[in-house]
Amino acid sequence: MSHFDSRDDFDPTPHDTSADEPAEATPAEVDGDGVVADEQEGDGLVRTLPDTLANKIAAGEVVQRPASAAKELVENALDAGATSVELHIGRAGSDLIQVVDDGCGMGPRDALGCFGRHATSKLRAIEDLERLHTLGFRGEALASIGAVAQVELKTKRRQDATGTLVRVHGGTVEENRPCAAPDGTSIAVRHLFYNVPARRNFLKSAATEFKHLVETFQFLALSHPRVGFLLTHDGAEVYRTPVQSDLAFDDALRRRVVQLFGEKYEGHLTPVEETTSYLSMRGLVGPPHLARRTHGEQFFFVNGRYVKSRSLSHAVAAAYGEALASGTFPFFALFLDVDP
Ligand code: ADP
Ligand code: MG
Repeated sequence: MSHFDSRDDFDPTPHDTSADEPAEATPAEVDGDGVVADEQEGDGLVRTLPDTLANKIAAGEVVQRPASAAKELVENALDAGATSVELHIGRAGSDLIQVVDDGCGMGPRDALGCFGRHATSKLRAIEDLERLHTLGFRGEALASIGAVAQVELKTKRRQDATGTLVRVHGGTVEENRPCAAPDGTSIAVRHLFYNVPARRNFLKSAATEFKHLVETFQFLALSHPRVGFLLTHDGAEVYRTPVQSDLAFDDALRRRVVQLFGEKYEGHLTPVEETTSYLSMRGLVGPPHLARRTHGEQFFFVNGRYVKSRSLSHAVAAAYGEALASGTFPFFALFLDVDP
């Protein structure tokens, strides 16, 4: 049994999210908390952390703030082939981060299993790493988010008559039952870091956290211009960008830029395209006269994944040459593709 099959071993017993390690991986006995039992009194200083604690620690890397949780959830929706993704935020993400998609959904086993450590459907063997075209594959996001928030998952596959509801609070499964649900998945993350006060206190002002959420929404909505997106905050619509699955990527992107950043870009975006033997690049760049004083509207995507890169920004600025006033930053959305 491969280590990556952990979702198959995932123990569906409520109140225990820990038993997702293959038995043969640990020769010592594993007790109910996933802690390796002390073999010798007075010697056993080295312990295996219970998964609930390990997930809580891992959450520090995966989820720094509401925006990072939102990113993970939306990326999962995109990986699930959604044509439409809704992101609902309550109180700058401290009360609610909910993502609703119309993607492939999950069956009852995966609906519970996806909260396990290293639970992923995207990677089975090390060779897969060279072929991966999805946004996630480490299987850490949901385990981490579930460890530090109150999560409600509702999901249904098209072929199933009923859906599944799973509630995980602080890494503990509180509820797991069949339920009525539309095709696709809804994950509501409430009270992020409610059980990790140090992290909660580390969050910035609501305005700052919401700014990060908007930026995250913008780059996700740009990266998949044919997918429809909706962002709401405390029940009010912030952005609604339509499904554009009938458009070619470039046309969809051009419209998406205007939907997100305003009419001012209408008719002012220049397509760029370049293909070499090892990479291809395409996208849109804005005119020098609409360049701004901040980096806020500059987007690079490498194999569909948003990256911030000063050197790439400099390279673009250099290409504008004299046309660009110093200290100003033109709009661009550039997609670089290289063999994974
Ligand atoms: P990763 O994305 O790295 O695989 P995650 O913890 O983000 O890990 O998700 C675990 C698994 O749960 C995914 O591999 C996928 O099979 C399933 N999953 C998560 N979100 C969704 C979703 N919105 N729709 C369908 N399946 C999902
Ligand atoms: Mg993921």
